[in-house]
Amino acid sequence: MLIHDHFQHDDVRAFRFGYHPLGKPTMFVHCFLVDGLLVDTGQSQARQAILDTLGQQPVEQIFITHHHEDHTGNLGPLRAHFGCPTYSSTRCAEMMQDPPGISLAQKLVWGERPPDRDLTPIEGGLETSKHRFELIPIPGHAEDMVALYERDRGWLFSADLYVHHRIKYFMASESMLGQIHSLRKVLALDFEVLFCAHNPQLTGGKDKLQKKLTFFEDFYGQVGQLHERGYGPKTIFRQMELDEKWFTRILSGGHLSGMNMVRASVRDLTSTNTTSA
Ligand SMILES: [Zn+2]
Repeated sequence: MLIHDHFQHDDVRAFRFGYHPLGKPTMFVHCFLVDGLLVDTGQSQARQAILDTLGQQPVEQIFITHHHEDHTGNLGPLRAHFGCPTYSSTRCAEMMQDPPGISLAQKLVWGERPPDRDLTPIEGGLETSKHRFELIPIPGHAEDMVALYERDRGWLFSADLYVHHRIKYFMASESMLGQIHSLRKVLALDFEVLFCAHNPQLTGGKDKLQKKLTFFEDFYGQVGQLHERGYGPKTIFRQMELDEKWFTRILSGGHLSGMNMVRASVRDLTSTNTTSA
């Protein structure tokens, strides 16, 4: 089932798309349009609706926050439609040339993500006629991820840095410590509105991100204590009484799981210890 709608907040128009192969969508993706700048292109499973809806909008440039398939799924068709420049971080442009494979679960819910060799790398900032956006690297969820910060308006387009303040699973490639550092970096800024790609927060955005930071710091701290006692990831997972989302874990071939959150924390603890030793 496909669901899509949109809303306006201030000068920002948000387009929301949800698709699920078996029933009602449980996750939504947002593409944001502000002053001719389109932030992200949604999932390819919703392509027709995305082209029909966004195709009529006055898009002059596109920015991709990171290489994941729910953000880059319609990059090629939208670029062809608008004939406009398409930007991303340098790392994102590199990764999109030969992007990592995606699991069956991701293909079913979000869709395919073909390589793209036409992204123009950009760092520092991006301008529209009315706004200046600072491009802030926020690696962790994905190594190439960038937030767009409009200082004067107090807007943060946070890609997938937030999603929810409690996270139940990670992709295998995520870093826990990377996300903690990125959350701390962003929380040093002044903003109110969080244009999160999955779960926008129009008020109190900063408090929501702070809650997520606290959750991750607690999680990382608990893993750290158990790791110091010599426990491995499986025992740590049991000791923390975590619940596994088995359907997601199996359908994704282990690519998405709660265990990945423990493994990511252990990996970060180990590499931090090695670096400081
Ligand atoms: Zn993502």
